[in-house]
Amino acid sequence: KGKRAFIAGVADDNGYGWAIAKSLAAAGAEILVGTWVPALNIFEMSLRRGKFDASHGTLMEITKVYPLDAVFDNPEDVPEDIKANKRYAGASNWTVQEVAELVKKDFGSIDILVHSLANGPEVTKPLLETSRKGYLAAVSASSYSYVSLLKHFLPIMNPGGSSISLTYIASERIIPGYGGGMSSAKAALESDTKVLAFEAGRKHKIRVNTISAGPLGSRAAKAIGFIDTMISYSFANAPLQKELSADEVGNTAAFLASPLASAITGALIYVDNGLNAMGVGV
Ligand code: NAD
Repeated sequence: KGKRAFIAGVADDNGYGWAIAKSLAAAGAEILVGTWVPALNIFEMSLRRGKFDASHGTLMEITKVYPLDAVFDNPEDVPEDIKANKRYAGASNWTVQEVAELVKKDFGSIDILVHSLANGPEVTKPLLETSRKGYLAAVSASSYSYVSLLKHFLPIMNPGGSSISLTYIASERIIPGYGGGMSSAKAALESDTKVLAFEAGRKHKIRVNTISAGPLGSRAAKAIGFIDTMISYSFANAPLQKELSADEVGNTAAFLASPLASAITGALIYVDNGLNAMGVGV
């Protein structure tokens, strides 16, 4: 029987979420995605118009796209200004709890859960200039969103299943420019990977791992503003001097989700051409 994956954080074909979906589909998985509500219309229109066919969209069938906003756990959490927001008007049932309920109703269960989303409204500000609100928003969208997703999807995940998130080395080394509390949010995500591996492993036989990915010119990364510098820094300094392709992260996710990785949980796996191992630039 084929496996079923829910991938949260796909809104175009430039990011890691899309590449992970492609790799999982190539390995035979059925693909469901969660797309941020404000990005939903453009994503669905682009899918319909075949805009992504060049990046193998034709080879990947997305069975269903669910609107999702992972900073809200249930309808009671949603403030009035969001309810009234034009960009949320056309969609419904997009809080984490509601999406998990819909997936259960539509498909019964899943095997693979992927968290490929992050948001830090003050990411361009140094930590010393970050407001409390901006810092907490980064942690809410980029770290607690994962705790919430796993919490709500775990009851419908088949034992032996696997959960994967994406992190960045700015959690453990100084990367000036990755601000707004985003470095803090990734540190929380990495620590939570271990605790969640214990809890989900004991309770549901689910593995929990995170991929520390090298720089990719995704939509989110372009918003930070320093991604081209990071890509050329990596090219100049990493052990493997090649541009990192999103597919290399996708393939690692497919490995981690497969029985080949059946003893791997609570792990952080670098997919970064080895840059993490360097002590100095060369
Ligand atoms: P991306 O823009 O493709 O993905 C981020 C997605 O998050 C977008 O689709 C966006 O719509 C979605 N999103 C934002 N807020 C959301 C919310 N509240 N609810 C639901 N969805 C929301 O960019 P990406 O770079 O591929 O990012 C995917 C993951 O990879 C992130 O966790 C990011 O931190 C991580 N990562 C990226 C890089 C890089 O260089 N691009 C490096 C290491 C790790």
